[in-house]
Amino acid sequence: MSPLNPGFSTLAVHAGAAPDPTTGARATPIYQTTSFVFNDADHAAALFGLQQFGNIYTRIMNPTQAVLEERVAALEGGTAALAVASGHAAQMLIFHTIMQPGANFVAARRLYGGSINQFGHAFKNFDWHVRWADTDDPASFEAAIDDETRAIFIESLANPGGTFVDISAIADIAHRRGLPLIVDNTMASPYLLRPLEHGADIIVHSLTKFLGGHGNSMGGILVDGGTFDWSKSGKYPMVSEPRPEYGGIVLHETFGNIAFAIAARVLGLRDLGPAISPFNAFMIQTGIETLPLRMQKHCDNALEVARWLKQHPKIAWVNYAGLEDDPNHLLQQHYSPKGAGSVFTFGIRGGYEAGKNFVEGLQLFSHLANIGDTRSLVIHPASTTHRQLTEEQQIAAGAGPDVVRLSIGIEDAADIIADLDQALAKVT
Ligand SMILES: *Cc1c(COP(=O)(O)O)cnc(C)c1O
Repeated sequence: MSPLNPGFSTLAVHAGAAPDPTTGARATPIYQTTSFVFNDADHAAALFGLQQFGNIYTRIMNPTQAVLEERVAALEGGTAALAVASGHAAQMLIFHTIMQPGANFVAARRLYGGSINQFGHAFKNFDWHVRWADTDDPASFEAAIDDETRAIFIESLANPGGTFVDISAIADIAHRRGLPLIVDNTMASPYLLRPLEHGADIIVHSLTKFLGGHGNSMGGILVDGGTFDWSKSGKYPMVSEPRPEYGGIVLHETFGNIAFAIAARVLGLRDLGPAISPFNAFMIQTGIETLPLRMQKHCDNALEVARWLKQHPKIAWVNYAGLEDDPNHLLQQHYSPKGAGSVFTFGIRGGYEAGKNFVEGLQLFSHLANIGDTRSLVIHPASTTHRQLTEEQQIAAGAGPDVVRLSIGIEDAADIIADLDQALAKVT
């Protein structure tokens, strides 16, 4: 790319992409192929032995995926990335790379409901153990760490509560204890917040949400910050010990500051298999081209809607860090001054029943389990995304019985507010 120091919007459009060398196609083609022809037998051997980078088989790597990976790595300021089939698959590959049976990690209690399930249920079957801590009290993370701890996991902007987290305070704790900090940056997107600049080591995204941005394609990605020394403690053998299947190479020695992303690809994705389809990679990288425009409009609309709801007599409370009197406002101003995101929660007077009636009365809003679409979305977390949790876990995750969650789209704010207004008028 020609500019020496391209800005965020330039990277969103160009990073990773060049005209197709064969056809001159300007948009990245969808390389809809399972496999790639080797030049000769030595070339094939070098690719399989990790002596040379190159395409072998789309489960492991594909040129359309590669553009997406390079683009998100550039937007986050990381060294390398690995795109996979979903946000959950990316989380799975991150932990597969760093955990062993009997090991644990410390995670924020305030997380996306699906992550609470994945960590507490599926991971338990691998004998990987999550310990919950409270982001309002960073010391609780330190208290949960022991010799078997391998990482700390937080969301930069927590789903569904819409609360910002003091990333650098938690990064300091992680690094003092020799651990990497993993940050799920799905809700903020790198347009609002780049956690690597605040001490994070690994970033994970559900590409399904704001990065893809149009509610049409599943995907996930992990970004290697290139900052963490995986060899020091002996706790991360996948990265720091010889790999017999690759001729005894040590990934950390061979690949340096991209060793984590390489390990997740050539050990995790190779064996576990959740590859993203080239078509979804294409859809998501096209979405990313307009991320800065969309994200700003999401934030501006959400602030206008939150202000309007706040003064409405049928609304008990609004939890939006963009509001000046919100307890989270100072953290938002520090970490995400361009806006507070598009997702927030509020409580409707009349509790569970009123919430249900309200959701059913909306017409422009779609009632569904997603966030980060161009369209405005609504859900009642306690009966849906957070349903499998106990009521205590629901409240801790910011998804108690009276909570309604909105994901504000990029329509005209006046139309979004008019829809909320007519639905509230019908609630008795
Ligand atoms: C949706 C979501 C995930 C999971 O991503 P999928 O693409 O649905 O697998 C993880 N974290 C957060 C914050 C999310 O919103």
